[in-house]
Amino acid sequence: MHRFDYLLAATGRKPNVDKLAIDRSGLDLDTRGVPTFDPLTMQANGSHIFMAGDASARIPLLHVAADDGRIAGTNAASYPNVLAHRRRTPLSVVFTEPNIATVGRSYAELQHMPCEFAVGEV
Ligand SMILES: Cc1cc2nc3c(=O)[nH]c(=O)nc-3n(C[C@H](O)[C@H](O)[C@H](O)COP(=O)(O)OP(=O)(O)OC[C@H]3O[C@@H](n4cnc5c(N)ncnc54)[C@H](O)[C@@H]3O)c2cc1C
Repeated sequence: MHRFDYLLAATGRKPNVDKLAIDRSGLDLDTRGVPTFDPLTMQANGSHIFMAGDASARIPLLHVAADDGRIAGTNAASYPNVLAHRRRTPLSVVFTEPNIATVGRSYAELQHMPCEFAVGEV
C-alpha cells in the first residue's frame, strides 16, 4: 500500500460554455451543452456561429485547436460562403510509461473498416 500527502486527479475538463446562455441560441446542443458542428467547416448547425478549440470539446489538443481556429476564422470571415477544409492526419500522444501514440485512424476505428492496416511497436 502507498500513502501520499496530495493526489492530483486528472479527471478531464469540460468546455466553459455554461454561462453563455447558448441554450437560447436555438442551436442543437450535444450532451455537454456544446453546439453540434461540422469539423470540416467548424460551422454549428448551418448557422453563423463557428466553434474552435477546446470550446468545441472535440479533440482537446493544441495543434487541433490551432487548425480549428484557422478553419473557423476563415469561414466566419467569408460567411455565408462556407468551405470544407482538409484536416491534418490525427496525431495523439499519451505521456505514460511506456508512452503511447497514435497516428492516423485509431485501432478502434480501423478494426471495423474493410481495409488492411499496420500496428507498430518500438
Ligand atoms: C495540463 C494540460 C496539459 C496539456 N498538454 C497538452 C499537450 O501535451 N499537447 C497538446 O497538444 N495539448 C495539450 N493540452 C491541451 C491544449 O492546451 C489545449 O487543447 C489548447 O490550449 C486549446 O486551445 P484553445 O485556444 O481552444 O483554448 P485555451 O488555450 O484554453 O485558450 C482559451 C483562452 O480564452 C480565455 N478565456 C476564457 N473565457 C474567457 C472569457 N469569458 N473572456 C475572455 N477570455 C476568456 C482563457 O483565459 C484562455 O486564455 C493540455 C492542456 C492542459 C490543461
